[in-house]
Amino acid sequence: MGLAQGLMKQQSKMLQKLLREWKRLAIAPGATVLATVLSWTGVVQPLEWAFFDNFVAVRPLEATDPRIVVVTIDDADISRIGQWPIPDVTLAKALRNLSEQQPRVIGLDIYRDLAVEPGHQQLVDVFRTVPNLVGIEKRFGLQKVPAPPVLAELNRVALADLVEDPDSTVRRGLLSAKDAQTPTILSLGTDVALRYLAEEGVQLEAGRTAVEYRLGLATFRALDRQDGGYIQADAAGYQILMNYRGPQEAFQTLSLTEVLSGEFAGEEVRDRIVLIGSTAESINDFFLTPYDGSAKSLHSRTPGVFIHANLASQIMSAALDGRPLLQVVPEPLEWLWTFGWVVLSVLVTREILEARRIGQRFAYTGAVLSIFLSGGALISVGYLLFLGSWWIPVVPALMGLTIAAIASIGAYNQQLQQFAYFDGLTQVANRRYFDQQLLEFVQVRGNLSLILCDVDCFKNYNDTYGHQAGDSCLKQVAHAIHSAVRRTDIVARYGGEEFAVILPNANAEAAAQVAERILKQVRKLDLVHATSTASDHVTLSCGVVTVMIDDATLSHAELLPVSLVARADKALYGSKQSGRDRLTIAP
Ligand code: GH3
Ligand code: MG
Ligand code: MG
Repeated sequence: MGLAQGLMKQQSKMLQKLLREWKRLAIAPGATVLATVLSWTGVVQPLEWAFFDNFVAVRPLEATDPRIVVVTIDDADISRIGQWPIPDVTLAKALRNLSEQQPRVIGLDIYRDLAVEPGHQQLVDVFRTVPNLVGIEKRFGLQKVPAPPVLAELNRVALADLVEDPDSTVRRGLLSAKDAQTPTILSLGTDVALRYLAEEGVQLEAGRTAVEYRLGLATFRALDRQDGGYIQADAAGYQILMNYRGPQEAFQTLSLTEVLSGEFAGEEVRDRIVLIGSTAESINDFFLTPYDGSAKSLHSRTPGVFIHANLASQIMSAALDGRPLLQVVPEPLEWLWTFGWVVLSVLVTREILEARRIGQRFAYTGAVLSIFLSGGALISVGYLLFLGSWWIPVVPALMGLTIAAIASIGAYNQQLQQFAYFDGLTQVANRRYFDQQLLEFVQVRGNLSLILCDVDCFKNYNDTYGHQAGDSCLKQVAHAIHSAVRRTDIVARYGGEEFAVILPNANAEAAAQVAERILKQVRKLDLVHATSTASDHVTLSCGVVTVMIDDATLSHAELLPVSLVARADKALYGSKQSGRDRLTIAP
């Protein structure tokens, strides 16, 4: 073989291999599309949230925010005071005590739209005189609560509303909202944070787009309906993803009792944001956060005031310390990310299957192993990215790589099945397949013919030219036979140098024609065979048999595959006896 020929052969082999690879990799786009479309239905969104919650709860806790102190009102405080709502005189006293220590901002996360005597006038006076005191109203949802009238008049009202996901967990922070009737109003966390930052000289500035704002070191972008793991989220108002600093335990607190009795150090309040809110079970101002029920929190629910505190802390530390906000990537990048994991899964599955330590019987163990390996890597990388403040959904990729691993196993099994019926040397069907097919065809009405072929003096060929040349000769003979038969005929390697052809619907005449063609094609190979007694080239001897399956004159035994093969073999022997390089038709 010349060098050029050798190169070409090598190239075509590489091409074949590439084609096989490509077929297997074609699983990847399919699995990606399927997983993405599945995720669009939203059915797996709770799973995505579960990952988000765990990522939040598992990551290391940050130091408490020195800029915030939360004044809690728990059941013990309420029973000491003796009534709820606590009377205005008591609230006024608490606010005065706090105000004396000069906090920078006070956020009152308690509804106070109505007077609670005694002492209402005192509270009104405090509202008027304490600077930077912000109250709340509830503007959205079923139950709306108006703001304290004095604070509304002074324009010091913020929104108490929080945004809950359908599973009642707060993962999004509302910065501001607006409805048709009223102007934009800031949420409590945002309002106190902006007031705090104003004293640092940090102001909100317009960003490059309508939904972008700059604040100190931070750039805020409004959450979109499809951001991160969200599918069609209600992104009304201006929302961002909550980048929790920690559970309620992570904030400095004072109890209302301590505040009322003045038993607290001035520094605990001075120049800080003070948020006042209820933590009492009886008041039931509770929400779910990613921390609830995790090892990081002793509580199963979080009082609303701590969520406002988290949001305020998130805004301030982003603006002043450059603490990152949670970021998302555009949808197409998420698809690419899913695709990448799917490709990895296909490759890992193939590696596992080809490692041969796992046989066919364990193919599904292989799939499970592959899913665990690539799934584990995916979750780890997803978590690492989350630590770097990127929320990239993991569930579509998880689904995609699972689908891909299962599909790869399917493809592999199919291939194995193909191998099981395939003769590796000659690239035609093997004996097992031949037996199976012949059994099937003897049950079909009509003519059935069978040709048995045997290479003449092949032992001599091997002895003369070597075993390797013998193998190459068998390959070429198989190819020649294949090229001589009809598309519906089945060529199989029956034994060492014997081939069989099943010809469905071929009568004796047609079968003889095919056999003649086979002999001719093999002669045309022009393979020199100096030690053949039949010719100076490689030749075949054939035996041809034809039966009419529903021929009533034939016995059941005569219609069995074995008797068909025996008759063909006898005819083949006849060809050998009468000089080889010919065909004999069975009587
Ligand atoms: P006849 O014309 O009577 O068929 O003579 P023969 O030599 O072909 O018959 P025999 O059955 O004695 O020899 C068959 C030989 O085929 C023996 C064996 O070494 C050889 N053979 C069988 N399978 C293979 C194979 O896969 N590769 C090679 N190179 N030789 C094979
Ligand atoms: Mg032979
Ligand atoms: Mg033989």
